[in-house]
Amino acid sequence: MAAKPFASSADLGEKTETLDVLADGVYALTAEGDPNVGAIEGEDFLVAFEARATPVAARDWLRKLREHTDKPVKYLVLSHYHAVRVLGASAFDADTVITHETTRELIEERGREDWESEFGRMPRLFREPDSIPGLTRPDLTFTDGMRIDLGGGRGELVLRYCGRGHTAGDLVAWLPRQKILFAGDLVEAEAALYTGDAFHADWSTGTLDRVKEFGAETLVGGRGAVSRGREAVDAAVEQTRSFLLGMREQTGAVHARGGTLREAFDATHAALAPTFGAWPIFEHCLPFNVQRLWDELDGIDWPRIWTAARDREVWAELQG
Ligand SMILES: [Zn+2]
Repeated sequence: MAAKPFASSADLGEKTETLDVLADGVYALTAEGDPNVGAIEGEDFLVAFEARATPVAARDWLRKLREHTDKPVKYLVLSHYHAVRVLGASAFDADTVITHETTRELIEERGREDWESEFGRMPRLFREPDSIPGLTRPDLTFTDGMRIDLGGGRGELVLRYCGRGHTAGDLVAWLPRQKILFAGDLVEAEAALYTGDAFHADWSTGTLDRVKEFGAETLVGGRGAVSRGREAVDAAVEQTRSFLLGMREQTGAVHARGGTLREAFDATHAALAPTFGAWPIFEHCLPFNVQRLWDELDGIDWPRIWTAARDREVWAELQG
């Protein structure tokens, strides 16, 4: 059998992008499993959610958004620190970039290594990488939550921390009046989960419980289509949970009996592939996911830093 190409390095086909108007002044752009972005109109300003991998890629999104509104971007909200979500930030010319406080710390600790790692794994998303001026750093952070008054009778946007999950510092953005939730990478809709920096035990239990408690009627996950209606929203949350529980069960069993990382990967792949194998980035993510879960089971609480070199080593060991 031919060797699997590294991560998403061979995924070079353009995706079809869809701009959905979810409610008056609420926008989401989905792209067949590529990272989603969104925007919310205030009275005389915009809140943008997620920034894409480069300023050039972000400007493609802004051009589509500008067909609907020309309000300036006052706030750019970033759900977590991953490069493909944050490095396009300069294109928005935002007054204030907002993240969770732990995301600020993660960017300082590992932002540079994460940039190189993600560029190697997903080169197609880094359109014109030289347009990135440097690391994106927040101007404003919070630990539990904060509110943005949208003005003009538009209600408020609530930013909330739901616990450790996809990273140690994910936030979600909630519109209580419209019951729309932007969940970042805490929930994926028919796209594989990336858990290489995750906290599987917390995410699959209390964190997803808190996400579900919003009672959203529309959910925009990190990747995949918009979920519409309570049934579809709950299904997306539970699919995410079952991916995590499947990993915990399989990798956990091999770890408990003193098996090897490779055995854990093979068992987890075999168990998850029938359900999730055709979803975007499944093959790309799984080696990194199993390695991180293995570390978690070894008692390594704080995720080890991925570097371009460590990416290749783990890939060769598990997918080689
Ligand atoms: Zn992410």
